[in-house]
Amino acid sequence: MNPTPLADLLALVRQHEEALAAALDAAAGDNTADAVTSLRNGWLGRKGGVVTELMAKMPQLAAADRREFGQRVNALKTRVEAAIADLEAARRATARPAGAVDVSLPARAIPLGHTHPLMHVRRQIEDVFTRMGYEILEGPEVEDDYHNFEALNMPPDHPARDMQDTLYLAAPIDGSTWGVRRGDTGAVPDAQVRGATLLRTHTSAMQIRYMQTYPPPVRVIVPGRVYRRDNLDLTHTPMFHQFEGLVVGEGITLADLKGTLDAMLTALFGNVRVRLRPSFFPYTEPSAEVDISCQRCDGRGCAICKQTGWLEILGSGLVHPAVFEAVGYDPERVSGFAFGIGVERVAMLKYGVDDIRLFYENDLRFLEQFPAS
Ligand SMILES: [Zn+2]
Repeated sequence: MNPTPLADLLALVRQHEEALAAALDAAAGDNTADAVTSLRNGWLGRKGGVVTELMAKMPQLAAADRREFGQRVNALKTRVEAAIADLEAARRATARPAGAVDVSLPARAIPLGHTHPLMHVRRQIEDVFTRMGYEILEGPEVEDDYHNFEALNMPPDHPARDMQDTLYLAAPIDGSTWGVRRGDTGAVPDAQVRGATLLRTHTSAMQIRYMQTYPPPVRVIVPGRVYRRDNLDLTHTPMFHQFEGLVVGEGITLADLKGTLDAMLTALFGNVRVRLRPSFFPYTEPSAEVDISCQRCDGRGCAICKQTGWLEILGSGLVHPAVFEAVGYDPERVSGFAFGIGVERVAMLKYGVDDIRLFYENDLRFLEQFPAS
């Protein structure tokens, strides 16, 4: 008997290869026990299995052709075995009895949230001042002209109002409240704001509300959002976060201000030098811009600090006598200091962030770089 031509049997193998691909497609990942068993019996079964039947044809070939044929059939067998292994793995993963626990599986990592970097800075500042015995106030974000400007020594025609582009409301509204959030003395829990006409441009408005309500001595910080008519860019947003600090008592001096700022800035930035530069604000006299030594270059001068070795961090000063008069304090008897610090500004310098918008986009890739708590 003449041997069967190799090409004939290879064509037969090709038909089965195509049939296998079609069968696996049609089964579409059906990993039930029946489906896996029928796949195994139909292709690898000792009686009638496709691979077994093909192997049985080997003797029909000329000796020289058997090797190639055997390799092709073995490759087909390997594909069937791999498909069965995949289905069985999927079956083990999904077909566990209800309630059963596979104790060999690695534990699932629980995703932990991160404190937002602005909240992290805010808490650090609050910790510093809570330890020094300050009260923490919440103030209203909608304010009236009197508390935001006039009582802070900025009457309607005062040129300093041009320094702050203000967002005004279409109509006055009532009802936002303020109060002492922690370390409450219990005297006045909440107060209502009436006739608010603008979004506050600084937390300094709370200086007035607090002093109108409580007699001296005063030792408070006020964290909160403030609003300006700024367009969004690398360093500006129409809303940002500020801390107001206010201390009033007998014999409060610039030295007390300097010591307090040293304590806060050291807690925030570590071992930095602090300097006060003469400046102007309508509600403080004298006024000072406060700089810290550049941490990047240790004061030698670099691109971050524009070669000056110093970074501007906040504004401050001694409370102007006109402000005391507006709230009924006697400027002959008491003195005090105030400062305002931007939370975003601190966070940008502390963490080397060069685009303020990153704080508001809530991109987890950005947020996850900061300490978890
Ligand atoms: Zn520098």
